[in-house]
Amino acid sequence: MSTIKFLGAYGGRGSGQNTTCVQLSERVTIDAGNILNPLGEDANTIDHIFLSHCHLDHIIDIPFLIDAFFVRRKAPLNIYALPETIASLKQHILNWNIWPNFNDIDLIGQKEKSIQFVPITCGETYRVDGLSLKPVATNHTVPSCGYVVEKEGKKALLTLDTHVCDTVWEEINRDCDINTLVIEVSFPSRMAKLAEASRHMTPLFLQDELKKITREEPLCIYVNHMKPDLVDEIRRELQELDLPVVMLHDGYTITL
Ligand SMILES: [Zn+2]
Ligand SMILES: [Zn+2]
Repeated sequence: MSTIKFLGAYGGRGSGQNTTCVQLSERVTIDAGNILNPLGEDANTIDHIFLSHCHLDHIIDIPFLIDAFFVRRKAPLNIYALPETIASLKQHILNWNIWPNFNDIDLIGQKEKSIQFVPITCGETYRVDGLSLKPVATNHTVPSCGYVVEKEGKKALLTLDTHVCDTVWEEINRDCDINTLVIEVSFPSRMAKLAEASRHMTPLFLQDELKKITREEPLCIYVNHMKPDLVDEIRRELQELDLPVVMLHDGYTITL
């Protein structure tokens, strides 16, 4: 069965609520907001991380992941990201100040670096561990992308962090093999100004966005990245608007 699992489904941290991380296979995740705690020793098998953007809630486990298994690691940890995201990680996190630059540290007894960065381009397809991932440009405060993921012949589009964004819906309408959409809703609609300024979504923004769907084929829609303190309010609003969406939580497994 073709499944993907949300190790972290929220836009912040709370009790039992962790930041964004989607496990696509034993070796591959999208984003790194929550890898070590849910996977424990199995986190050592993660070799490929595709990032949506550079915000802390999406990258925070990268420094700890490489550090935790450094002495045992036999192959580099590959980080796929937009060039601007890679530049931010190098400048602000792996800079020998906040954390060692593992992109400059050889694996023990090997010539390869511990972390390898792979710059990605929107619209190109990347094949790893039997999966294919195609970055799709999104609309956030920093350069960002979602991904069309293909696993065992099934396709999903995960937006990750975004405000209203035509490219997402163009992709959904163009590729009718996509049967699953995961889109963020960070704030309730009363906080629309903040959502707009921070380039996130509210239920009312989502309601308008869903009108851009012109295709007939069925689409299962899931919502993630709620701010932990606002989850109940967002849930009530989504129900009141009668939007055909399912809210995710940590540990949720989606069957494509
Ligand atoms: Zn985020
Ligand atoms: Zn963000």
